[in-house]
Amino acid sequence: MRILIAEDNTAFAQVLQGQLRKSAIASDHVQTVKEAEQAIASLPYSAVILDLGLPDGDGLDLVRRLRQAGNALPILIISARHGLDDRVLGLRVGADDYLAKPFSVDELIARLHAITRRPGTMVGEVLHAGNVSLDTESRQVNIGSHRFVGRLREALILEVLMRHEGHVVRRGFLFDQLYGFDAKADANTVDVHIHRLRRQLSDMGATVVIHTIRGVGFMLVGSGSGAEQVASRIDKQ
Ligand code: CA
Repeated sequence: MRILIAEDNTAFAQVLQGQLRKSAIASDHVQTVKEAEQAIASLPYSAVILDLGLPDGDGLDLVRRLRQAGNALPILIISARHGLDDRVLGLRVGADDYLAKPFSVDELIARLHAITRRPGTMVGEVLHAGNVSLDTESRQVNIGSHRFVGRLREALILEVLMRHEGHVVRRGFLFDQLYGFDAKADANTVDVHIHRLRRQLSDMGATVVIHTIRGVGFMLVGSGSGAEQVASRIDKQ
C-alpha cells in the first residue's frame, strides 16, 4: 500500500517513512494542508497519516472537507494534543483513528492495517488473473501452486496491473505508484522492472501476459480472457 504523511516536522516524517518502508508500506510526505489536498487529488492513497497542527491550517479542517466531499479515504490522526476532547472531535469529524504522540511505529502500523481493512476499501483482498493470485495485504503472490518471490517494486507493479486487468495502465501512473510524484528516479526504471517481472512470470509458467502499449503504458491480460485478443491486436499495430 501507499500512504500519505501530512506532517510539518520533516525529521520526524522521514524517520517514520524509513520505518514504514521496512514494513513494505510506501509513503509520500507533505508538510501543509494545501499540499495534502493536492496529493490526495492526484494519487489513490490507501490511507493518510495526518498531523493536526500544520503551518497553513488545522488537519481537522482537511478531514471535514474530505468527508463533506464524499471522500472515504482512511485517515489516521497523529497529534501531540492528548486531550480526550481532541480525540473525540477528530473521530467525530470523520477521522478513522487517533494516535497520540509519542507512539510506537508498531502500534501505528497495526492501526494503519486496521483502518485500511474496512469493507469497501481496496486493500486486504486477493486479486486473480490467469493462474496468478496476489494478496494485496501480505503481497504474497502465487503462480499456480508455487510461491512467487520477487522484489517489492515488481510485486507492486503486478498489483497495479492486476487491479486493471484488461485495461491499459499508463507508464506515468505506474511510476507514481512506485516512487511518488516528487521522485527523482529515472522514468526508464519502470521498463526495467516490467522486463524483469515478465521474465519471472514466464519462467514460472504464469498464464498472464504483460503487453506494452507503445507510447502509453502496459496492460496485463490473463490467457483465455476476451482482453487477450484485443491486446494481441494492439501489439501488432
Ligand atoms: Ca505539527
